Amino acid sequence: MPENIFQKIISREIPADIIYEDDLCLAFRDVSPQAPTHVLIIPKKPIKSIDQVADEDVELMGHLWLTIRNLANELKLEKGYRVVANCGWDGGQTVDHLHFHLLGGRLLSWPPG
Ligand code: AMP
Repeated sequence: MPENIFQKIISREIPADIIYEDDLCLAFRDVSPQAPTHVLIIPKKPIKSIDQVADEDVELMGHLWLTIRNLANELKLEKGYRVVANCGWDGGQTVDHLHFHLLGGRLLSWPPG
């Protein structure tokens, strides 16, 4: 099965503006930013979407959320930010590798489209 684009970023087969990495996850700037700050946080484990998260992934999920918190702090999003995980067709997911969008740097409207 061919690797998707985020797996190729993890393996460095294609370049990305990586701003954080540890044993479990990677964070890089979105190639098509929807806000002044738009970062994607992904697990290195190949999980397709929230729908495919297993019970055994509970610590990994906690780690991703704490990483998001730390990045938001480092990126100085003190006025606020939004974390989005699109899931499946109706959710607007276009890359089949679990990812969290961290968006900030402007006032974000609600509800999303
Ligand atoms: P989603 O639509 O929730 O699946 O989000 C996928 C995101 O990945 C989109 O915001 C894209 O702009 C972004 N994206 C796709 N390819 C790349 C890439 N090579 N580097 C960085 N971001 C990417």
